[in-house]
Formats: sequence, C-alpha cells, structure tokens
Amino acid sequence: DSRRTESIRNICVVGAGYVGGPTAAVLALHHPTITVEVLDKDPSRIQRWESPHLPVHEPGLDTVVRIVRDGAEMTEETILSLSSVPTKRRQNLFFTCESAKSIARADIILMAVNTPTKTFGIGAGCATNMTVFDGAMREVATHAKPGAIIVEKSTVPGGTAERVRKMLSTLRPGVPFEVLSNPEFLAEGSAVKNLTTPDRILIGSAPTPSGRQAAQTLTNLYAAWVPRDRILETNAWSSELAKLVANAMLAQRISSINAISAICEKTGANVNEISDAIGRDVRIGPQFLKAGLGWGGSCFRKDIASICWICESLGLSEEAHYWRQITVINERQRQRFARRVIDRFDGNLVGRKLAILGFAFKKNTGDTRESLAVDVIRMLLEERPAEITIFDPYCREEDILRELEPAIAQVPHGDMSIVKIHADPYLACSHAHAVLVVTDCDQFRLSKRSSMRSDLDSVGGCDVTGTAHTGARSWTHAGVSYQLAPQAK
Ligand code: NAD
Repeated sequence: DSRRTESIRNICVVGAGYVGGPTAAVLALHHPTITVEVLDKDPSRIQRWESPHLPVHEPGLDTVVRIVRDGAEMTEETILSLSSVPTKRRQNLFFTCESAKSIARADIILMAVNTPTKTFGIGAGCATNMTVFDGAMREVATHAKPGAIIVEKSTVPGGTAERVRKMLSTLRPGVPFEVLSNPEFLAEGSAVKNLTTPDRILIGSAPTPSGRQAAQTLTNLYAAWVPRDRILETNAWSSELAKLVANAMLAQRISSINAISAICEKTGANVNEISDAIGRDVRIGPQFLKAGLGWGGSCFRKDIASICWICESLGLSEEAHYWRQITVINERQRQRFARRVIDRFDGNLVGRKLAILGFAFKKNTGDTRESLAVDVIRMLLEERPAEITIFDPYCREEDILRELEPAIAQVPHGDMSIVKIHADPYLACSHAHAVLVVTDCDQFRLSKRSSMRSDLDSVGGCDVTGTAHTGARSWTHAGVSYQLAPQAK
C-alpha cells in the first residue's frame, strides 16, 4: 500500500470553522509527524486562529491548540486528559489563506467548508446551498496533486461524492484522485471530547480497489487514537445519508418530547416526570429527551430538509411529510413560548423590559447561527416592548447583531435601538419585567428548586413576572428550572 499512514506528510483542512479548526487540531495532536494546514479564505478568521483568542469557543480546544500550534510543553494533567499524546513534539498545526500552495502540498484534503440551507425553497437540485462547497472544490480540483485523497467532512446531500468525482474528471481529465465521505458527528460545545473519543467514525468510499485503499488510508489515520471497531467503512451514499439521518433522528426526539410538553401544559402531566420515566427504558434512553424551546443551529433544519428533498425526488411524499413535521413542531414550540410570555402580560408588552439570557443556539458555544433567540425576539418585538436586553457568556456582540438585524428589519415597528446587548448578566436583568432563559447555560442554573424571583431580587431588584423556563413560580413549558447563578459573571 503506497498510501500507508507513514507516507502521509501533509494534510490540508479547507475551512477553519467549528468543524475544520477543532478537527485539524485533534488530527495534529495525534499525528506529530504530519503537518496539518488549515485553509480559510477569510483572513480575519485565520488571524483569530493564530491569536490567543480562538474564533471558536470549545472546552479543551485552547489546550490542544497551544500544544500543536505553539508547541507548548505538556503538563502531566494535559497528558492525562488527552491520553496517548507524545510529550516531545514540534509545532505541526498551521493556519493559512494561501490556498494554491496549501492544497498542492497535501496528500489528504479534508473539505470542511460551510454548506448552508437554501433560503429560497428546497427545489433546484437539493435543499443545501452547495455554492461554497463547489467553489472550494473547484480550487481543490485545480491545485491538488495527482493521487490526493479528497475527503468530504462537510455535511452534503446524498450523491455528492459521485458528483465530485465527475467534477474532478472534467476539470482534471486523466488525473487520479480518490473521493471519500467522512461526515463529522461532533456537537458544538463538546467538539474536542467528541473528536478525541468519537462514538464512531464513518468512511464511505467508491466500490473500487483504489476507493477501498483510500478508505484504508483514512482508517489508519484515525486508528492512531480511535479503536478500530469504531471505524465503519461503507459505500459513499450510505455514509452521506447516515449523517443526515443521525441529525434528523436527534431532532426528531426533541420534537417528540416537545409535542408531549404541549399536552402537559394543558393537563396535569409534567414533562420532566415523563422524560425521566420513559428515558429509564433502556430501549429509549435519557438523551435528547429534554423539553425546551426546541433545536436551533445550522445543522438539523438543513439536514432534515435534505432528507425531505431526497424523499420528494424519489416520489416518497408521505415519508417527506413525516420528516417535515419535525421542523413544523420545532417552529411551533418557539411560537407557543413567545405566546406564553405575551399572555403573561395580558397580551400587552408595551412599556415592558424583557431580558434574554443566552443567545447562542445552545449552551457552551458562541455560535449564533439559526439561534432560537432570534425568532423569539422577533415575535416579542411585534408586541412593542420598551426594551429587550441580551446576555450570553460566549457570543460576540457583532455576531448577535448580524443575526438579529435582518430579523428585526422584518418587524413592522422593529427598532434595533430598543435591543441592548450586555456583557454583565446582572445589568441585563436589572429592572426587567421578565427574564427569558433561552439556552440552558450552566451559568443560569444553580439548583432545580430555587426560585428565579428571589435570586433576581437580590441581583437587580427587578420585578420578575415571567420566566422562560419552568420554576416554582412559572410555567412548565421548558421542563427545567433555572436561576441566575451568583457566579454568572
Ligand atoms: P463554518 O461556517 O464555521 O466554517 C466554514 C469555513 O469555511 C468558514 O470559515 C469559511 O470562510 C470557510 N470557507 C468557505 N469557502 C472556502 C474556500 N473556498 N476556501 C477556504 N475556506 C473557505 O462551518 P462549520 O460549522 O464548521 O461547518 C462546516 C461543515 O460541517 C458544514 O457542512 C456543516 O454542516 C458540517 N457540520 C457542522 C457541525 C457543527 O456543529 N458546526 C457538526 C457536524 C458537521
């Protein structure tokens, strides 16, 4: 095998985002002899990856980056937490904007660029906007050296590997390349943990000897730290579809329990008690059974839309309808939530100050893409409150504004000047009439029994008449009680 791991000298990761950055760092950590370059067309993103303030907040990422990017000495503690990592090492993680050189050097090219949801319908080819992916792929096709292995890490519609193969043979006729599907299953907020101890690695290849050989090379690369029985080799279609299905199934569990929470609100049932009772059934399990505002983020909606599109294109309209309902229930959950807040004030938010705790699409990340808070704020603004304040421990103000401004522009009386972003949670909550806990950040949670009001009284003397999540004195909407913890700063 001419492509044994020992022959791999350079890896190029295209896209220095939430997936590309952490993936490259963990690869570099476990392969000290391989040079890993992360390529991005956005110079400001590259600059931040090269600075002490990484553009992605992930527990443990700073440590890994300090080791591989800066060659930092390992302490016993870091060795223990990252397991079998050699202590003596050189710097082997680099960030760059120089695409041609970086791609041309690479034996393996991991495509980790963004593949956003189409904004206009789901017709015309697929539900995913592949413009960015295809643009990056054209650059790769132009510069990659013969024999390079090109790996789809981005989440792509089924059949993309086949399409990429055709694209390569048109742009570089006669030049041998291998295309693999290797979808990423990491979750933001636990990316380093998911990458260092993955449940499984999925590698899809073409059913040809050279396709299988390329899959073997990638398997060997992962086997440096992942047990071999967790590395699954499949055909490319299975691998691409499995990624979409994994996300759709997770979203489906959340929508299922949220649909039950709607029943609970109208009856004497308590959704937490139900989650606990059914989650103890080993066939069901407790994960992803927490009722709440629903799921947000850049992945679930897009991946479900992709499955719907595949179903429609195969004439499976009932199946498409089934999967689409998961998104419908998710959107309803946000509407019901905003409605309850408005009802709490007898349908009139005029003159009220509302504080939003948490803006990222989930806890432990600063990622604001498709954040649930945006829709909630938009719906509340339609009722013309006096002020909306926002605090999130990890989001940058510019990211919050970038998400909010277009949404607010759609509101007839939408006025950005009443929205204020605070770096201090206590200031955000001070004199608020309601505090809406929109993400389940640990900073907002102290104990299940404490009442939001007493804490907030001591915080800013505000008059809390409604909170987003359930508590002794609020409603059972989201299933968990929260309070603003004293250490929330
Ligand atoms: P991201 O937007 O954070 O990062 C993508 C990066 O690619 C951006 O920095 C962008 O500037 C860069 N880029 C775009 N075109 C480029 C080009 N031609 N050359 C170089 N760089 C280019 O996206 P992400 O969240 O990291 O997601 C990447 C992919 O992984 C998506 O397909 C996504 O669906 C998938 N995924 C994401 C997650 C997640 O939790 N974020 C998890 C699993 C899979």
